[in-house]
Amino acid sequence: MKKSYLLTPGPTPLPPQVMAAAARPIIHHRTPQFQAVLKEVEEDLRYIFQTKNDVFIFASSGTGAMEAAVCNLLSSGDTVVTIEGGKFGQRWTEICRSFGVNCEVIKVEWGKAVEPKEIKSRIDRESRIKAVFTTLCETSTGVVNDIETIGKIVRESGAVLVVDAISGLGAVDLQTDRWGVDVVVAGSQKGLMVAPGLAFLSVSAKAWKLIEQAKSPKYYFDLKQAKKALDKTDTPFTSAISLIVALNEALKMLKEEGLENIFQRHKRMAQASRAAARALGLELFASTAPSDAVTAICVPVGIDGQKLVKTMRDAYGVVIAGGQAQLKGKIIRIAHMGYIDEFDLIVCIACLEKVLNQMGYKFELGVGLKASQEVFLK
Ligand SMILES: *Cc1c(COP(=O)(O)O)cnc(C)c1O
Repeated sequence: MKKSYLLTPGPTPLPPQVMAAAARPIIHHRTPQFQAVLKEVEEDLRYIFQTKNDVFIFASSGTGAMEAAVCNLLSSGDTVVTIEGGKFGQRWTEICRSFGVNCEVIKVEWGKAVEPKEIKSRIDRESRIKAVFTTLCETSTGVVNDIETIGKIVRESGAVLVVDAISGLGAVDLQTDRWGVDVVVAGSQKGLMVAPGLAFLSVSAKAWKLIEQAKSPKYYFDLKQAKKALDKTDTPFTSAISLIVALNEALKMLKEEGLENIFQRHKRMAQASRAAARALGLELFASTAPSDAVTAICVPVGIDGQKLVKTMRDAYGVVIAGGQAQLKGKIIRIAHMGYIDEFDLIVCIACLEKVLNQMGYKFELGVGLKASQEVFLK
C-alpha cells in the first residue's frame, strides 16, 4: 500500500468539499441555477483578486488567459516590455512574438527578482511601450517579484501592467486595484484549490482603452464578447460547469478564511520549508526574494536531483517538482500553496531526508524536521 502526497506547483491537492462539488449532477449553464453560481463566483473572484473590475473566466489552462491578455491588448507591430527571470517570464515573450508584437526583453538572472528601476529605464527610453508583462511568483525559480513597486512605475506611464499571478493568487498578496495592476491572469489549479481547466483574467479601465484599439486575431478569447455575456451573468460559450461549481466551493473556503490569514498561512509554510532546507545544509535557489508559494532548493553536489524527485515519488508517493530547462536536476521545488497544511509539509520533509540519506548525503537525520516543527510551534 502507498499513499500519495502532492506538493507540486500545480496541480495542487483538492479539498474534499471541492471534489464533491465537481461530482454533482451536471446542470445546464443557461439556467437561473447556474447563473446564481456564476454570480457568487464573480463576487468572490473580485475579493480574491482584490479588484472592483470584471474577472473573466475561460475554459483553458492558465496559459490561455496569458494568450487572451496579449491578443486582446495588442496589435502586430506594437512594442512591449517582458521580463525573463524564468520559464514563465519567457512565456510572455513567446506569446507576444507569436502575435507579431516586438518585445523589449529584460533578462533577469534566474533565482533573482527583477529590479523595478530597470523597468523604469526601459519605459523612459522607449516611449511607444504599450504594456509591461511580468510575473508575481516565477514558479520555475521560486522567486516573488515586487509588483507594488513595479505598479507605481508603470502607472505613471501610458503602458498597462499585466501580471501573471497563476501561481501566486490565493497565496501571496496582490493588491490589484491599489497597486495599479491593469490585467491579472490566474489559473484554477494552484492557490485556488480547483482542478486544472479554468483560467481567469481581470481587466482595468485603462486596459479596456487598449482593448478597443487592438487588432490581433482572436475568437474564443475575445474579451469584448466575454464582456457582453458577463454583463448578463453568462459566458459566451458553454461554461466549464462542474469546474465552476467546484470553484464556488473553493472560493467560499478562501473567503471564510480571509486574505490576511491565507497569506499568513502560506508565509508560515514557506518559512518552515526554508528553515528545513537550511538545517539540512541545503542552499535556497531564490535567496533574496523567495516566494511563499513554492520553495526552490539547490540539490547538493554529488546528488542526482532528477533521481531524488523520482525516488520520492515512485518509492514513497511524495510528489514534488524538479527544475525546468537549465535547472533540470539542479533544484527541487516544494510547493506549499493551496490545500496543504503543516503536516503535509512535514511528511514531505521526512521523505526528503529519507531519500537524501539513502543517496549518501551526509547530515544528521531529523534536523530538517526539527527546524520546521520549530517554525510551526512559534
Ligand atoms: C503554472 C504556471 C503557468 C502555466 O499555467 P498552465 O495552467 O500550465 O497553462 C504560467 N505561469 C506561472 C507563473 C505558473 O506558475
